[in-house]
Amino acid sequence: MPPVLVTGAAGFLGFHVARRLLAQGQRVDGVDALVGAADPALQALRWNTLQQHAGFRAYQLDLTDADGLQALIAARRPQRVVHLAARVGVRESVREPQPYLESNLAGFLNLLEALKHHRPAHLVYASSSSVYGDAGEGPAREDAAADAPVSFYAATKRANELMAHSWAAVHGVACTGLRFFTVYGPWGRPEMAVYRFVRAIESGEEITLYDGGRMRRDFTYVDDAVDALLAVLEQTPVAAPLASVLNVGGGQPVRVLDLVRAIESLTGRQAKLRLAPGPAGDVPHTEADPSALRARVGVVPTTSLRAGLQEFVSWYRELHGSGELTRPLRSPHRTTGSQSRHQSPGS
Ligand code: NAD
Repeated sequence: MPPVLVTGAAGFLGFHVARRLLAQGQRVDGVDALVGAADPALQALRWNTLQQHAGFRAYQLDLTDADGLQALIAARRPQRVVHLAARVGVRESVREPQPYLESNLAGFLNLLEALKHHRPAHLVYASSSSVYGDAGEGPAREDAAADAPVSFYAATKRANELMAHSWAAVHGVACTGLRFFTVYGPWGRPEMAVYRFVRAIESGEEITLYDGGRMRRDFTYVDDAVDALLAVLEQTPVAAPLASVLNVGGGQPVRVLDLVRAIESLTGRQAKLRLAPGPAGDVPHTEADPSALRARVGVVPTTSLRAGLQEFVSWYRELHGSGELTRPLRSPHRTTGSQSRHQSPGS
């Protein structure tokens, strides 16, 4: 079996996917440019951790390097490709869209072009729940129009789906896009809500709570997301349509304020809250309809928020107590007050 190609392997999801594949005895070619991280030290720790495994080959490559990517794929000829590399973060994409255009659109184009010459059995790539835009209350289904994104990040993810469809139709590249709903868990992104809130509560810092904490998110525990991804990856589409999209979320939205309360109860500490109006680019409600995922692979996210948070808090305390990261994790970019430019409840 040729190695599985995983792009974005130094990222949160890519790290977990690569680690799971390695644990199953598979080989992994990991590609990452090591860019855009809110905490480069955590990203480097993920990347270095993977490299300690004999089955892992690291390629530090930017997907905007079309020739480099073409050469890698020609040499390694992956049969299964997991594409997770992207610029992430809804609010940042509104402030600074150019890197999103390069990584998410040009990078994906380069990948599709390389794969059309060496067609894999299956390309599974990350889309996002953000493609649904402000869809109101109720579960989002894959057959919704999804034509009203409210951030550039969301627009790039929707564009990826349309690009994938056309490469499947014209070049026969079999691909499935996964619309992830706010994934959290150990090794997660420091700018996302779960990490930010745990860090703030543990260190007695203030939490900025947008819109009174009324926003709701369908939080997905990372192991559930990986289970779904790997189950989908194994099922090679053989007949038209060769391209499809699936929600990856459990359909159990939780108010952000209730997330804070759950962390307070787990840590035994009280949050210091500062209220602020809702920021541009975020939608008030996300909720997956997981029935298409269930029908296709029989696996849907089920880990309770409390159980997932418990895992996260244990990992957080272990990491910060271990001295592997010498300073508290922080965002490199600062705006006014305690707001970081990267922070987001989920992308
Ligand atoms: P992450 O930022 O932790 O990982 C993304 C990785 O991609 C980073 O390591 C970065 O260096 C790499 N990358 C970015 N641009 C690159 C380029 N041009 N070339 C090579 N590498 C590049 O993000 P994540 O949370 O692991 O997300 C993984 C994927 O899942 C992304 O596509 C994201 O949009 C999608 N997604 C994530 C969530 C979530 O809740 N985490 C939700 C919806 C969708």
